[in-house]
Amino acid sequence: MIDSPQFERPVRGSRWSDDQSRQALQAIAESIIETTGFDLVGVSAIRDDGYLQQLCVVGPEDACAVLIDSLAPMEPLLVALEAAEDWGWLKYVRHDKHDIDVDKWGWTSDGPREVPDGVWHPEDILVAPLHNDEGRLIAVLGLDLPRDGLIPDEGQRALLDVFARQACRAVVAILERQRLEEQIRLAGAAADIVRRATGSMSVDAVLAECGSAIVEGFRADALWIQLVGSEPRPVLDDNPVEPPASFIEALSRYAAAAWADQRVGIFAPDRPLPEPMVGPEVAEIRRFLLTELSAESLLVVPLGAGTEHLGWFALSRTPGEAEWSEGEAAVALDIGRDLGSALVTARNFEHEHRLVEELKELADYKTRLVATVSHELRTPLTSIVGYLEIVDGDEGLSDLSRKAVAAIQRGSTRLSRVVEDLLVLHRLADAPVGATTVVDLAPIVAATVDLNLGPAGRRDIDLVADVPTGGARVLGTSHDLEHVVANLVGNAVKYARDGGSVQVTLERAGDEVVLGCVDDGIGIAPEHHDQVFEEFYRSPDPEAASRSGTGLGLAIVRRVVDQLGGRIELESALGAGSTFRVHLPAAAD
Ligand code: ADP
Repeated sequence: MIDSPQFERPVRGSRWSDDQSRQALQAIAESIIETTGFDLVGVSAIRDDGYLQQLCVVGPEDACAVLIDSLAPMEPLLVALEAAEDWGWLKYVRHDKHDIDVDKWGWTSDGPREVPDGVWHPEDILVAPLHNDEGRLIAVLGLDLPRDGLIPDEGQRALLDVFARQACRAVVAILERQRLEEQIRLAGAAADIVRRATGSMSVDAVLAECGSAIVEGFRADALWIQLVGSEPRPVLDDNPVEPPASFIEALSRYAAAAWADQRVGIFAPDRPLPEPMVGPEVAEIRRFLLTELSAESLLVVPLGAGTEHLGWFALSRTPGEAEWSEGEAAVALDIGRDLGSALVTARNFEHEHRLVEELKELADYKTRLVATVSHELRTPLTSIVGYLEIVDGDEGLSDLSRKAVAAIQRGSTRLSRVVEDLLVLHRLADAPVGATTVVDLAPIVAATVDLNLGPAGRRDIDLVADVPTGGARVLGTSHDLEHVVANLVGNAVKYARDGGSVQVTLERAGDEVVLGCVDDGIGIAPEHHDQVFEEFYRSPDPEAASRSGTGLGLAIVRRVVDQLGGRIELESALGAGSTFRVHLPAAAD
């Protein structure tokens, strides 16, 4: 607050109250003039910064011109009132009982400074301090220039008190209504801003969605938004002006401190310097506001979430517009928090979205690479296998060479399988759900079981199948379904124990066809149940690893089943055998 000795008139505040309230106050002041015999009556409201701002004055023209919208510090008046005579609602301070330089602080008439007892002195003070229902001092009603030039006597004071009481109640009601209206307006604006912010999924969208709502909600003229580590956002203004870097830097430094202390900053004439700003910085900001933007005041609001300071937004108002009120400052701080949370959510969403995109690109690249490599391997593999057959037929091969040929044959067979499986996988990934027809699974299962009887028999495995003659028809392609059955039955036999058993079942259950493959083999630990369907996954279990495989069979099964709208169930535990059940939608009969 400015000390009164340094205080010089005239200092003007921005428009504080709305026109309607002002007119109502004016009417009250006029009625006081008519009824009380005083020629100068005014109402001053107490601003958040401790200044009294003259909202209305009725009286001589020269007094009105000096007083209307003028600011005066409240403190000296409070000190003076300690020596006041109590006239009920009104308090009277004789000119020689206070130190206020009324000429500077308010307005004085040119009347004589030496007056006899009972005569009104130009520096006499007669005011009614006005409190709201919560007991807070919100305004001061002041009277001056008694028409008869005298200090009211006892009888006049009683009458004056009756009028003053009525007038004071009316003034309090007007100011409180205005405060309430502002609260309602701000609550509505805040709800609107938060709704827009939380519905947006990118940082840009949050800012674009909220910009106009903030400007309108706060009745501002321009808005800047600056996020830490990014370029200044465009000014939302009818006539955008690029703010200088020093302006952005100074406000960014201020906002970081303000977020830590959870406060907003008001940069306006006669306001205390917002900490930790220094005079020259603030002067520079005000100069830019006034000269470049024709703006008078700035509300700077830090943005953040938790302990993270994210940036700030600043709103400006032109001279003659309302002051930033305490209510607006409080709501702005809340909005800084809500907007901060929405920005963090949007930022996380953008980050995840980017990650998903990158993963998708990587997966696409992998698929393309695998397809190219598989195709490239196929041709040389075909010639290797062909030449091996020729070499194998040569009677004159030494034992060592024959062993070598056998080893190369095993290797190339395995390589061929990997290449074939990769090509199947790639085809399934590349061409989802091709033309499907009604396929009867029964002959496919029967043929696959037949094919596996040889390998099963060699290891003394009892391979049995329970395949119905009808009712196992599904929509799909024979080729893909053959892969499903071949991989499941092949695995069951491969991972069964020597001398063990494998049962393959096929049945219609409601509107599904269920293919079951049960073995009593090495089993799969529950924690690996999901992984076995991943490409190239092979169990780390030494018993499983000792059986040859590509790690692609179950990936193919899952892809086909997914594409046909089915599902797979797996029941298994290490050492306790495995049961795979594939459920596929049955084709209409
Ligand atoms: P692989 O060619 O290795 O058999 P799969 O994709 O068909 O590849 O299977 C992946 C892994 O799942 C196998 O390496 C094996 O560890 C495990 N697995 C699959 N089927 C069975 C089964 N019936 N019993 C035990 N483990 C199995």
